[in-house]
Amino acid sequence: MHFELQAECPHTGARAGLIHTAHGVIETPVFMPVGTQATVKGVTQRDLAGELDAKIILANTYHLFLRPGHELIRELGGLHKFMSWPRAILTDSGGFQVFSLSDLRKVTDQGVLFRSHLDGDAHLFTPESTVDVQLALGSDIIMPLDECIAYPASREAAYQAMRRTVNWAHAAYGHYRRRVEESASQPALFPIVQGSMFADLRRACAAELTDLDAPGYAVGGLSVGEPRSLSLEMTEVTLGILPRDRPRYVMGVGMPEELPEYVARGVDMMDCVLPSRNARNGYLFTSSGRVVIKQARYRDDVAPIDPNCQCYTCRTYSRAYLRHLYQAGEILFATLATLHNLNYYLDIMRQIRQAIELGTFPAYLDGIRNRAAVE
Ligand SMILES: [Zn+2]
Repeated sequence: MHFELQAECPHTGARAGLIHTAHGVIETPVFMPVGTQATVKGVTQRDLAGELDAKIILANTYHLFLRPGHELIRELGGLHKFMSWPRAILTDSGGFQVFSLSDLRKVTDQGVLFRSHLDGDAHLFTPESTVDVQLALGSDIIMPLDECIAYPASREAAYQAMRRTVNWAHAAYGHYRRRVEESASQPALFPIVQGSMFADLRRACAAELTDLDAPGYAVGGLSVGEPRSLSLEMTEVTLGILPRDRPRYVMGVGMPEELPEYVARGVDMMDCVLPSRNARNGYLFTSSGRVVIKQARYRDDVAPIDPNCQCYTCRTYSRAYLRHLYQAGEILFATLATLHNLNYYLDIMRQIRQAIELGTFPAYLDGIRNRAAVE
């Protein structure tokens, strides 16, 4: 994998670039749809690659490890083949899910002992084992095990989790280097910066991780309930330390109006379940605010969800029909709504990238801020 920086905004930290992978080229800044269980819920791979033109998706190691199991996926030719997705895949380390979903977890310097949320079976994730699982999956970009802590956290708890994250990143990296020497696939491993909401811990963590000379870096531990201004501030202090010539990935963000804010601080990659999860719950993002499709006002509304959207759903169906599908609990609603919301996010990223290339990103950002202030 290598990152090619194409354009930088002279007034903000925004950048446009290309990430070259074994499974295609990714235009950045990029938003990655989340495909937790090797599927972006409700959307076919044909639509993901065609209609939506997503260049990379994210899958969750924790879920695939538990079911169907990484060894089975390896036997079946790896995750790309298993799910018939020829483009790039990023997998997380599973750490975030262990800390948010499973019971009875016990964190030691060796790793995390946890019980499956499916059947209660005990498992141990170590920095080494989570690299092995992701190598079995055959992902293009893999993440080391990190310790995610809740917000708010004491400085001491944040410091301990940050230290452990750095130690685990070094252990994961050492193991990864030995493993890829003997392996056909050469995924990129992105260390994760932690440090909760303490700017000095974030800076210290970022500085230590840059010693690894990794092909890219991630910022974790955000979107855990903190005010948005704080997530942006932590991103900014972290990215000030990370190398300019490597992609920067902020994990788990954000709302549509936040995407250009992260990009303005130098972020190249983002992911979030919001567009797909909100879609299934009937919350649709549009250029003139949110549409809550169950509302009675849409009962006889013949307009598309968003007249400015060119997605298949907006080209084809009315709000009245979509409301009917939602009220009737029809499966098709989830598919059509997810297509629209993901297209809305991916369109924002395409607009941002174009603005950076044309040198108009500051004006674009002002426009988004003004609109958000009015709403
Ligand atoms: Zn649409």
